[in-house]
Amino acid sequence: MANTVCEREGCAVPLPIAGRGPVPRFCSTRCRVAAHRASRSKVALPRELTSRRRWVRRDERKAPRTLDGGFASVTSPSSWSMHSAAKASPVGVGLGYVLADGDGVVCIDLDHCFEGEVLAPWARAILDRCPPTFVEVSPSGDGLHIWGRGQLERGRRIRHGGEAIELYGQGRYVAVTGRRFEDCPVRLADLSEVVASLT
Ligand SMILES: [Zn+2]
Repeated sequence: MANTVCEREGCAVPLPIAGRGPVPRFCSTRCRVAAHRASRSKVALPRELTSRRRWVRRDERKAPRTLDGGFASVTSPSSWSMHSAAKASPVGVGLGYVLADGDGVVCIDLDHCFEGEVLAPWARAILDRCPPTFVEVSPSGDGLHIWGRGQLERGRRIRHGGEAIELYGQGRYVAVTGRRFEDCPVRLADLSEVVASLT
């Protein structure tokens, strides 16, 4: 049975009805390239994240879920789990991480930051300003999450030309893939200066 929607996670654009010939798997070149980028990345996660009991599952709509399928909440620590248990759970489509108060973990979200195979110059400029730290390819395959240490009480969305950069601070949950970008280290660096400069 052929797919009826684009296979890239988060897309779901209907595919044209296939005639003869190969059945398309993606709605566009952009989705094909993004899915390829996601699938070829090696999975790794920093201990600073896996050692904390901050893990949830995420469903197709990016909502956080508990390991038994209920709704998880960023304000309810009892709905969070250890990484090992969350990783083993079949609920939803993947993992999520809660940026809890006082942990000092931040995440910079760069969406739609690729131009074909390569990172867009605006995104590369931000990455270059960060000390070497853990960077993962987002679930869509078309964005990056830059993880690090820092204090950010409230998240912010910043317009950067036509692009949106989101800073996730306390009280947020982030969809996690662990798909390591390029040869980034698997640890968290201090992003305080970068975060301050972006706000
Ligand atoms: Zn698509």
